[in-house]
Amino acid sequence: MNYTALQMLRPLYEGIKSSIPYRALSKQRVLPGVSVAIYMQDKEPEGAGDKLEEEDEWQLYASAGYASSELETDEKVSEDDSLEETWFDGDDLEFEGNTVNWDSPPCPAPLGIAHVIKIGVCDHCLARISGLNSRGSGQNSGSSIRDDAFLRDTELKSKIIQDYCPLCENLFDDIDNIVDRVFDTLSDTEFSTMQFGIHLPKDLVQEEDRIRSKYGAQGSYHLKGAIVESIHERIRNLDKEVDFVKEKPDVMVLVDGLTLRVDVDVRPIFLYGRYRKVSRGIPQTRWPCRACRGRAQGCDSCEETGLQYIDSVQDLIGEPIREALGAEDTSFHGMGREDIDVRCLGSGRPFVLEVKKPSKRQLPVEDLVDLVRENALEKVEVDSLTWCTRKKVNEVKQSRSEKTYTIRFRAEGLVDIEDAEKSILSLDGQVIDQETPQRVSHRRAAKIRRRKITSIDNVRFEGDEVEITMRCEAGTYIKELVHSDEGRTTPSVQSVLGTDCEVIWLDVLEIHSK
Ligand SMILES: [Zn+2]
Ligand SMILES: [Zn+2]
Repeated sequence: MNYTALQMLRPLYEGIKSSIPYRALSKQRVLPGVSVAIYMQDKEPEGAGDKLEEEDEWQLYASAGYASSELETDEKVSEDDSLEETWFDGDDLEFEGNTVNWDSPPCPAPLGIAHVIKIGVCDHCLARISGLNSRGSGQNSGSSIRDDAFLRDTELKSKIIQDYCPLCENLFDDIDNIVDRVFDTLSDTEFSTMQFGIHLPKDLVQEEDRIRSKYGAQGSYHLKGAIVESIHERIRNLDKEVDFVKEKPDVMVLVDGLTLRVDVDVRPIFLYGRYRKVSRGIPQTRWPCRACRGRAQGCDSCEETGLQYIDSVQDLIGEPIREALGAEDTSFHGMGREDIDVRCLGSGRPFVLEVKKPSKRQLPVEDLVDLVRENALEKVEVDSLTWCTRKKVNEVKQSRSEKTYTIRFRAEGLVDIEDAEKSILSLDGQVIDQETPQRVSHRRAAKIRRRKITSIDNVRFEGDEVEITMRCEAGTYIKELVHSDEGRTTPSVQSVLGTDCEVIWLDVLEIHSK
């Protein structure tokens, strides 16, 4: 126990000292030679004042200046029953729930080793359940344990009942084969991290567990772990540059221990960026043909493309990237979306492109940006891309930002321009109520949204056309704010002007996100 550790513990004791009545819940060892009481405020125990129970006595002891005697010796802790140690009683005939058979006791007893050799255990399994540290590792270690056993008992060799290992069903012989299959399957895939799993038949696992707990040395490694470790070792010996990881791997490999079937899941990669849609008539995501519902061969009305719109932001950006990375498909996750006929300008709309089952994962993002630039010319622009993780998808999806728009509309019969401008500007800073617009009511629940118009400025008139710039809270329906959607949005530009307003076009000028 050093001084620093004491210093660290002191605040805890100080806290205890000043907190009465507290009840001791449990004592835990945190450092050698120190036991700490954990306290929780509680009601007075029932019957307080009566004869003190053992625990209450301890409480009394504890709250009466336990803090000043923070150290207890090891002996005292043991007396205190805080340490529960497991003792192996030599007379105990139970061993991990099984009755010990003294003719074949558990390994590493020589008779135990002889027994497992007799029942056919392979060198790999011998090494892991013998409880002996022998020369070499794995198979080599097992074979030297076997040789030693043959020296001790010259007749042992003739007593072996089978050459089929009851612990692994000779699965260790298939390690090279399994590894070959894994790398065959991944021959066209670039990866640097792998998560590896093996599925073993339940009855094999149960039988192995039964034999191992009866005859194996205490603490022997279980079959699954030993197999996976062997596979890792084999792959390392092949000089493959692979890191084995428990999360976020490039590839996940699952092997069926019975059929040796190899399943590989190439994990997606993610790119974050912001897009500007500089041309109208482009939906954000791929939109299947209404007539044929996007079936692979398409139909006449979609000219065999399966798409309602040939271009989408998703494919203008995603297709060149998918191709370059040899991927299967993409998903597009935007921070909200604009209507097909709406442009998105300024610094653009944040998005994450998910690239599914890529065979390459290492291309420089600058190259990908160049490919997008060529492919999406005069339609969509992306300035930069960065690699990101799946976490970014949620971040982008959940983000709600104010936006600035420019909208142009026709308002006939305006007589006094100055008056009209004043009416429009009266909406600046106002809170409006928006019923779910008719155009989206088939896919959105009917409700009233209350949204704020943060600012309106730059009102321009040109004949009977008006253009305004306004900044609104996230989720405001802008076209409806202008034409009122038959009175479903109040107030609206139409209601303050007192004349029909017909939207001509709309641009997202800026998405005010970090
Ligand atoms: Zn075996
Ligand atoms: Zn079609």
